[in-house]
This record gives sequence, C-alpha cells and structure tokens, in this order.
Amino acid sequence: MFHPPFCPNRECRNHHLSTKTAAWYVRNGSYFSRLFGRIQRFRCLCCGTGFSSQTFSLDIFVKKKVPYRRIFSHLITSSGIRDTARLLKVSPNTVNNRISRMARQAIAIHSSLSSLISLQEDLVADGFESFVYSQYFPNNINLLAGKESQFWFTSDYSHLRRKGRMTEYQKKKNHQIQKRFPVHRRSIYRSFQALVRFSLDLRKKSSRSSVTLFTDEHPQYVRVMCDLPGEERGLITHQRINSKLPRTVQNDLFSVNYLDREIRKDNSDHTRETVQFARNANNCMERLAVYRLYHNYIKPYRIGKREESRKTHAEWAGIPAQHIASEMKTVFTRRRFFSRSRWLSSSDILIWVRGISTPMKQMAEYLPAYSWA
Ligand SMILES: [Zn+2]
Repeated sequence: MFHPPFCPNRECRNHHLSTKTAAWYVRNGSYFSRLFGRIQRFRCLCCGTGFSSQTFSLDIFVKKKVPYRRIFSHLITSSGIRDTARLLKVSPNTVNNRISRMARQAIAIHSSLSSLISLQEDLVADGFESFVYSQYFPNNINLLAGKESQFWFTSDYSHLRRKGRMTEYQKKKNHQIQKRFPVHRRSIYRSFQALVRFSLDLRKKSSRSSVTLFTDEHPQYVRVMCDLPGEERGLITHQRINSKLPRTVQNDLFSVNYLDREIRKDNSDHTRETVQFARNANNCMERLAVYRLYHNYIKPYRIGKREESRKTHAEWAGIPAQHIASEMKTVFTRRRFFSRSRWLSSSDILIWVRGISTPMKQMAEYLPAYSWA
C-alpha cells in the first residue's frame, strides 16, 4: 500500500517531513486512470491540500508511458532525438519532455549526493566549446572536475561571439546577428567566476586549508583570480597548464580532457561535423545533466577487472556506495521536488527552471507548474 512521504504543498509544515510521521494525512477516495489503473487520493490534515499517489511519480500528468531507461540508453550513446522518437514510436516532443523530467531527477540526485563529499583532492576546470542553433552562436560550457576522481562537480553555460576565419558573406551575417543577439564581453569571466565560487564552497565543507585549481592559460581565468577579495585569495591556488602539452593521464588537465572527449563521443549535441547539434540551450544542458548522472554514478572509473576500476567516479570522490544505490534505485520512478532539493548550484537551478536564453528564440521557455513545485 502506498504511503505518501510528505505533503506536496511547499508552504505546509508537512512538506519537509523526513521520516514516516503518523496521521498527517487521510485517504480521500480514489479514481480510475486508463494508463495507471486505480489511483488513491489523499488529503493533508494540516493544509487541506488534496493529492494522489501520482503526485510522487515521475510520470505525473503523462498521457503515455515511455520507458525512461530506453531513452536514457539512447541519450548516452549519441542517438539523436528524432531517431529515439522513431524507435519508441512517440513524437520528438515526448522524448524531450521525458528528458526534461530525467534532467531534474539527475540534478536533484547529484546535489544530494555531492553534498556528502568532503573534498580530498585538487580540482580541474576547463571550457568545453560547442554551439546551439547554428555555428553563429558558439557557446562555452565550463566544467569543474576532481583531479584524481574525475568526478564532474558542475558545469556552467555561457554564450560566445563567433570568431575565427569567415568569408565576407559570413562576416556580414555575423555582424548583423551580433546586433540582434548581443553577447556579454565577459561571459567566460562570469562563468569561470561561478566555478571558482563553487570550488571555494567545496573547500569550506572540507577539512582542507586551501584548494588548488588547475586550468589552461586562458587570460580571463587569471583576471578572475586577481579580482578575488584578499581573504579568499589565500584559500585557492591557481595552477596554469599549457594546453598544447600531450593529453595523457599524466597531464594535470587530464580530468577535463577526458570529460571533453567522452562528451563529444557520447552526446549527439556535440559530435563535430554532423547534422546533430542542439537547437535549444536548455535542452542541451538538460541532456548534459543526465549525462553527468551517468558519468558520475553509473560509469566505472576505468575499464578493467580489478575491483578498484569498477568503482564509479562518485565512489572515488568519496560518496558511499550505499547512498548512491539508494538514490539510483528510484531515479526513474520517484519524482524529486525542487523545493525539497537542497544544495542546488546556481547553474543547476538555471537548468531546472529552463532559464538559459536560446539564440533567436523570442518566447520564454515553457515550464510546467509541477516541474518546480
Ligand atoms: Zn499540507
């Protein structure tokens, strides 16, 4: 028999229940759904809010059951959205809707599990360059990873201006586009600043007196470090590494080089020289959030028979296996709530609420009410 874990009304004192508390709700009849059979309804005794067992399901308000595991498998093996939709005999919009649901699950689980980490290693950051909508709208996705564990902590999105070699026609078009969609001059600066802030927060939660951050020699990174307030400058050491050095395991930037390679290989939005690329910046980041869940909590650290190799990147970063197993058990079934997800990073909040601007998109992003309850 289903027992609701908490009241879904975020204003109610029964919303933040963490253990089973007796008599905070009553059963309030049921209704029949063609898709899910008999659904039990409940009413909160404190605020009177009515809800049902479906309120706690990842499939809330769906009109068609689509296997999440199959979409997940396609997403992490470089399948396009239309291909996935054809194989599952649903529309591309349905696939995108289920990916949005999975992304919110991925973000909530990642924030909950990564809050258990007490940082024991140095950090590595780098920008991953791709584009959204067309090659006139390049972007930079800054990645922050553990130097030894290759645990992917966070990523931050920023738009860039198109530069580099162009024909006369392309230059003219680029000029017109930049007038319509201006990009902030210091977008990389702001994005890297968010990663530095995140690194300082990680240090604060650990027993380390300072943290070392390895990056390449991008001039904006140096500016961010110079602009840090005096008291914070001693807490973080910036190590710059020449990006032309061989990209081997010995390279100090190996973690982000490895992530960069894996994302290009496994994520159809970023495979170069194909017709597959992201059309919407929020969809692009949602897919990456799902991919981060796969990388951190499912994928083994290395290929090999030794038990150490088979551990996940999250275990290497210090997250106990039983916590990972307990969260992953319900990843495709039990809906995570925005209001109950603590420790969300600012860039993850932006992905959750679909708050990233997409070039040439005039309308605001559609965000269903249930998604940020
Ligand atoms: Zn209530």
